[in-house]
Amino acid sequence: MRALLFLALGLWASAAPISYVLTLKVAEQGTLEGSAQVTFPCPGSSEFVFRLYPNHFGPFLSVTGAWAEGAPASWEALDPTVLLVRAPRPCPPTATLALAFAGVLPDSSHGYGIFWRQERTLTLAQFYPLLAPWDGGWRVHPTFPFGDNLVAEAADYVLTLSAPLGWVPVGSGEEEELGPGLWRLAGENLRELGLVLVKGFEEERRALPGVRLRAVFPPELRLAAERALAIAAEALALFTALLGPYPYPDLDLVFVPLVGAAGVEYPRLILIDWDYAVDPERDFFAEIVAHELAHQWWYGEVGTDQVAEPWLDEGLATYTSGLYFEARGELGRLVEAWRARWAQAKVLFPRGSVGCALWEFAGSPNARWSYSGYAYSGAALFLHEVRTLLGDAAFFGALRRFREEHRWGLAEASRFLALLRAAGGPAQAALEGLIREFFGR
Ligand SMILES: [Zn+2]
Repeated sequence: MRALLFLALGLWASAAPISYVLTLKVAEQGTLEGSAQVTFPCPGSSEFVFRLYPNHFGPFLSVTGAWAEGAPASWEALDPTVLLVRAPRPCPPTATLALAFAGVLPDSSHGYGIFWRQERTLTLAQFYPLLAPWDGGWRVHPTFPFGDNLVAEAADYVLTLSAPLGWVPVGSGEEEELGPGLWRLAGENLRELGLVLVKGFEEERRALPGVRLRAVFPPELRLAAERALAIAAEALALFTALLGPYPYPDLDLVFVPLVGAAGVEYPRLILIDWDYAVDPERDFFAEIVAHELAHQWWYGEVGTDQVAEPWLDEGLATYTSGLYFEARGELGRLVEAWRARWAQAKVLFPRGSVGCALWEFAGSPNARWSYSGYAYSGAALFLHEVRTLLGDAAFFGALRRFREEHRWGLAEASRFLALLRAAGGPAQAALEGLIREFFGR
């Protein structure tokens, strides 16, 4: 009976084959203490790889205990961001690993400032050990100071959070206050569990058919928050019409300090750098909101390898955000901007191409510019040229098919190009020409 009930509940409540049960205790001074219990299909290995992404920038997270099926397991750091856990015996069909971890949230910014303690914000991106994807081996790439380093399978999450009094969590998933300073966050099919704690912020909600939008912002940014909600509502309707339904029940838009990134995406959560909120009437503000919203489809729902093939999610997100501007008759302006930035990237890094991996951009003379010039602008321009060639019906049909095929999975660029080719019809030769032009070296 119990097993049956569990199965029934599981079918109803859980969609992903991987699930995380997390606990986290955060102190205002930045100390972290937590645990992660991860359940996943046994990969046929008794060695498991977890990532501690914040450690790219310093020793911020460490594992203090490991258990496999309840028995003590050993662990070893292969790199500050790569943890190898060895189980004492082979795993059952469904493996359960538990890790205890501790850490510190620095008050100095590193990278994009997504693991950073400030007076009114505790931004806690990737605060827990994250299981690497398994595809016959553990998929582990090096980390870089720019770009998105996370590559992960979608999973179901439940977090029990102990937060300092007066702080409110906003994360990927549903937030529920259990008692003073005690919260529960839960969400399904999340590529990762994004999390920010804020103090003294306000919120504004807007309900759309099937989707709840919420902006969370410091009081002085109310105008920007309202503008962000209006942009998100409009873009969401547009993207839904062209790509299919928004993949989650809600979206939180939170204004926080970031460094060198105008916005960052997490499932059901986007962070917007509050410096850009000072003038929300600028086109660039709308571009941030539309771009990070587009990532809910291209990253959240259709996962990609953001390190090996960063153009795939960034190109699709950039082009999708362009659809918001197209509705205002402004796509031409964006296309010309993409063309100019792509041309600039080719001058900076002539041996590069749209298809370069993060590690290739890292070796170029001006890594961030080459990366954004190729993987964002060049890739968006490529998609625009393909759409012009194939026509809207074939182009958006291929995008929807790509989405349906790889829903909650990790997609590969070769499959995306194959779908474009399949939609190519009489334009086949011209399409091959475009692929050579953008991806050739
Ligand atoms: Zn992006």
